[in-house]
Amino acid sequence: MWRRLGADGRGAVFGVGAAIARLQKLAGRMNKMAEITVGLKEGQRTQCAPTATVGEALATLVSGKQRKQTLAVRIDGRLVDLTTPLAELAMPEVELELVGADAADGLEILRHSTAHIMAQAVRSLFGAVKVAIGPAIDNGFYYDFDRAEPFSTDDFERIEAKMLEIARTGQLFTRQVVSRQEAMALFEQQGETYKLELLREIEAETVTLYQTGDFVDLCRGPHVPHAGWLQAFKLIKLAGAYWRGDERNPMLQRIYGAAFADKKALAAYLHALEEAKKRDHRKLGKELALFTVQDEVGPGLILWQPKGALLRKLIEDYWKEEHYRHDYELLYTPHIARLDMWKTSGHFDFYAENMYAPMVIDEVQYQIKPMNCPFHIAIYKSSRRSYRDFPIRWCELGTVYRYERTGVLHGLLRVRGFTQDDAHIFCRPEQLEDEIFNILDLNLHILKTFGFDQYDVYLSTRPEKYVGSDEHWQQATEALKQALEKKGLAYQIDPGEGVFYGPKIDIKIKDVLGRSWQCSTIQVDFNLPERFQIGYTGEDGKEHQPIMIHRALMGSLERFIGVMIEHYAGAFPLWLAPVQARLLNITDSQAGFVETAYREMRAAGLRVEKDLRNEKLNYKIREAQLVKIPYMLVIGDREVETATVTVRRRDGSNLPAMSVAEFVALVRQECAAGRRLNGAAA
Ligand SMILES: [Zn+2]
Ligand SMILES: [Zn+2]
Repeated sequence: MWRRLGADGRGAVFGVGAAIARLQKLAGRMNKMAEITVGLKEGQRTQCAPTATVGEALATLVSGKQRKQTLAVRIDGRLVDLTTPLAELAMPEVELELVGADAADGLEILRHSTAHIMAQAVRSLFGAVKVAIGPAIDNGFYYDFDRAEPFSTDDFERIEAKMLEIARTGQLFTRQVVSRQEAMALFEQQGETYKLELLREIEAETVTLYQTGDFVDLCRGPHVPHAGWLQAFKLIKLAGAYWRGDERNPMLQRIYGAAFADKKALAAYLHALEEAKKRDHRKLGKELALFTVQDEVGPGLILWQPKGALLRKLIEDYWKEEHYRHDYELLYTPHIARLDMWKTSGHFDFYAENMYAPMVIDEVQYQIKPMNCPFHIAIYKSSRRSYRDFPIRWCELGTVYRYERTGVLHGLLRVRGFTQDDAHIFCRPEQLEDEIFNILDLNLHILKTFGFDQYDVYLSTRPEKYVGSDEHWQQATEALKQALEKKGLAYQIDPGEGVFYGPKIDIKIKDVLGRSWQCSTIQVDFNLPERFQIGYTGEDGKEHQPIMIHRALMGSLERFIGVMIEHYAGAFPLWLAPVQARLLNITDSQAGFVETAYREMRAAGLRVEKDLRNEKLNYKIREAQLVKIPYMLVIGDREVETATVTVRRRDGSNLPAMSVAEFVALVRQECAAGRRLNGAAA
């Protein structure tokens, strides 16, 4: 990811010291040389005085909309402000690429610039506030402040109004190159201790400052030329953040904002944000009593409540059935293993920061597992293998434990213990392509059944550090490509992003709000078979090493269920709903029939509940709707007489009264159809 913008804690200008020295030499020469050639990529050229700014040069090359929509330029791969004088580039010939707010890096400049004017507004409104860092982030920006009084979201309106005033008057972003000493003196005088701390760490002799109004910030830039660009923003939330993310440092107040190129894009984002809030799986998880996390147990450790456990069981059952259908065999393995095994696997050396401390059992060290792979290898080694046994496809819902910092833990999405829907395939090199194709096939089929049919696919190739021969890497990467193409999947290549042990395919699913979630991964591994010295007897009677594929389709059950809760806003399709129907009586006199109907439905395998409380029917209906139960079955005297239930859907629509047997048939049919509709065999 592109992370060069300033005020991100590393506000130095790259090698500006050297550039300035070069510049001073060149400037003398250039003034004599007079003009600099400036041109567009594959476009016209013009001659400009070295004192002209990039923006002035640009104005002679493009006009109208094109010029109006340019907020910075890229020169030689580097983003540059429009206000930078040409001479400072120290290039006799300059080629400009236009950067607008429609480009990702243009938008990032716009967002970071908005962080500046927010800090400016905060300083002008609240006086004694120290500023720390204020980078651009996805969809917006933040700035960290040190202030004795806590901010409140009630302050947002005032801050926004002030920001808008700065934007409307189009205040200029003035860039200045100064010596580090000058900058120190300035921030010393302003009491900006955080900026001083940053400055002390900068080695360059010169730094850049950006000023809007009376607010000066240490920053690498670049920025929009003036604040008029910054009209579509909104402050979103407040959070505490330790200076430099270190809990030994003071806690700062972070204000987050959203910023976009125009008001329409901002409105669309704010709408999506509202939707996301309503769908937050932590909120719904609590309301629907699916899962809980308790301090007493520990952060990042999920406790599945009965309804969540049932949902998980339904997913697990389906997953196992589908794997069985696709010629997989199921394994179960322990949660701990001797530390020595993790030394052989290499995890002890390369994965230590994600692993928990070992424990001692009978004077031998054991490790709680961060991965399932070595166990599957141990099972592989339990018997002699021949090429005739291949492909071996072993799957396991394997629970692993990995260290994550408390600060990054997030509901079901980032946890410390989770269950991977893991599988390992052992095969011969010539089987690789078919196996990858089969995995992709099963993968998309399973995702579709759960309601996900939009995704982004990435193929990651060889990184700088790797094991295995170049030939193997090439073959495996080619096999992944071929399988993707055969499956007709559009994909992006992530060069050098493969794991050190082999190339991989990642699939990010898109939810109903269009958000992407890393989900499936398929990884070829040349490393573990080598480390564990596993082999098979080939057709030639000689010993060979198999190829190993690691893959997880849902990623982890925790994460996948978290995504699913948000995707469906807790209203699961009937085949996945932990409670499919709730029986509601009108008065006590129907309690006996409710009990009978309940027993019959349970016996038929329906997931049904009863609400016999002495409450008004409307109240009971509303409660059932709130917990998103697909069907409410109302029973009054008429229903008792005719031995029927009146069926009401969670969307408020009604079906005619029907017998218990008819309702059971309806549910079965709808479940089968729901699964088939999404691609699964009934
Ligand atoms: Zn900046
Ligand atoms: Zn594995």
